[in-house]
Amino acid sequence: MTKQVVVIGAGIIGITTALELQRRGHSVLVLDREGVAAQASAGNAGAFAFPEVEPLATPGIMKKAPKWLLDPLGPLSIKPAYALKIAPWMYRFWRASRPGRYTELLHAQASLMDLSSAALTRLITSVDGEAMMQRDGQMQLYESEAEFRASLPTWELRRQHGIDFELLESREAIAERQPGLSPRFTHAGFTPNWINTVDPKKWVEHLAQVFRDRGGRIEHQEIRALTPTDIGVRITLAESELEADKVVLCAGAWSHHLARTLGDHIPLETERGYNTTLPEGAFDLRMHLTFSGHGFVASRINGGVRIGGAVELGGLDLPPNFKRADTLLQKATQFLPGLNTEGGTQWMGFRPSLPDSLPVIGASSHARDVIYAFGHGHLGLTQSAGTAELVGALIDEQSAQISLTPFSASRF
Ligand SMILES: Cc1cc2nc3c(=O)[nH]c(=O)nc-3n(C[C@H](O)[C@H](O)[C@H](O)COP(=O)(O)OP(=O)(O)OC[C@H]3O[C@@H](n4cnc5c(N)ncnc54)[C@H](O)[C@@H]3O)c2cc1C
Repeated sequence: MTKQVVVIGAGIIGITTALELQRRGHSVLVLDREGVAAQASAGNAGAFAFPEVEPLATPGIMKKAPKWLLDPLGPLSIKPAYALKIAPWMYRFWRASRPGRYTELLHAQASLMDLSSAALTRLITSVDGEAMMQRDGQMQLYESEAEFRASLPTWELRRQHGIDFELLESREAIAERQPGLSPRFTHAGFTPNWINTVDPKKWVEHLAQVFRDRGGRIEHQEIRALTPTDIGVRITLAESELEADKVVLCAGAWSHHLARTLGDHIPLETERGYNTTLPEGAFDLRMHLTFSGHGFVASRINGGVRIGGAVELGGLDLPPNFKRADTLLQKATQFLPGLNTEGGTQWMGFRPSLPDSLPVIGASSHARDVIYAFGHGHLGLTQSAGTAELVGALIDEQSAQISLTPFSASRF
């Protein structure tokens, strides 16, 4: 039966979900206060990072964090004014890193990655999107034998999850795949089945255009509240109201504000990230590079290079501190000695993050006609197609392709 569905949020999660619901025969309206790909989905690193099955909260991570925090422009920073506010989230993050819980989260994340990888293949075919993909793989770089050895358990995990990779144990082997790197990198792991889009913003815009071409509507609206009714959901807008059979909430780092209007208290925080995009010719980047010990990556975007990463815990309201992007770029010139840093554009984005690294995918605890799909943290682009298929199954009251228990809104 065709349902009237309103999707809130026109980022990668909202637009991919809207397309899937439309494919299933529903009448879909997308609402966003800013427009298509206006926030985190616009400027990310563009990676479909399917090999990254390990949750962020790994056993022992809390021992490493204080070292990172010593450097105010290092890979992890907490704004002093925000430290108290984020303490409950950090406590949950620590709990997620305990060995038993970590293993459960790892399995859940791996199942979503598997589904998302297969779902992306289906999506690319259905939207004629292959020209927007770069299938060059990814190299994760290490600066010493000791750092490399310490990473081996993670590679073993990837092997157990059927992920293809090759370990490179000499500078020569690294240079064959990516010339021009600093000799400080002595070891690497190469994952061939890693995909990057040519530009994450253009990818969302392409999906949005296909959605419109197939009759979908996208409108500018700010949503203020959601209320369950006998026959669906009432959506309160700035100056009016709307009724829908079903609502899918994909409002990224702002989603918990709307969930709260239904009575759900979800510990969503934002991990703010920074980058600089350099124009074509900045460096002959052959694939996505991950500088493991430094918390940032280099990816090819529109023929140029995007250097970025870092995690800043500071909430949604503080202005950006672009010194962080400067620091990453400065470091990148040491790692890629020929990098031309002229003409860059800086960006800051709000990753929507839950403390156990998994998104929420499932019905609100207080309104069965509101489906949540948010909190994908560092992996929203990667997990978008799988999330969309899961939401489709929920809207159609079919059984989901993977267990949704670990993703439930009531798990906190
Ligand atoms: C530096 C950086 C690098 C990253 N690299 C990668 C990567 O390589 N691969 C990867 O998979 N992920 C990456 N990510 C994470 C990824 O960008 C996010 O997980 C993803 O974009 C989240 O998508 P979303 O649709 O949930 O949220 P968003 O893209 O933020 O979209 C949410 C939308 O909701 C709208 N909205 C919010 N509240 C309301 C309201 N009340 N009314 C109306 N509209 C509303 C907003 O305007 C916005 O458009 C990166 C993130 C950062 C910051």
